[in-house]
Amino acid sequence: MTPVADRVAARRHTVIIVLRLLALALIITGAIMLLYGLLVLGISGTPRHGLIRTPMYVHLLARAGACLLPGAGLMLLDQRIARWVVPMPRPECPRCRYRLHDRPPRCPECGLDLGA
Ligand SMILES: [Zn+2]
Repeated sequence: MTPVADRVAARRHTVIIVLRLLALALIITGAIMLLYGLLVLGISGTPRHGLIRTPMYVHLLARAGACLLPGAGLMLLDQRIARWVVPMPRPECPRCRYRLHDRPPRCPECGLDLGA
């Protein structure tokens, strides 16, 4: 690989590690809330919680879902997110930022010698 591709791959790898750690933290938190919600449901039936008097396990299960779903999404889409966060740089003229589709010897926009 080229040095640019190596740097991009290293940055994407770092982003994937961070995303997976975040996903793991969300999944563990969601799992704890899910188990606690099921425990509350199993022990006490339908205790009431909050102003609108919904059963407490509904709150716990909703919070568990609010952690588990983004965690699973991050785990499944980590490589796509990494490609979006760290895009492969496109070749462009260093002076005028004209996008170069191939490697011409001179920039067709400003005439800078690219040494190709
Ligand atoms: Zn140029």
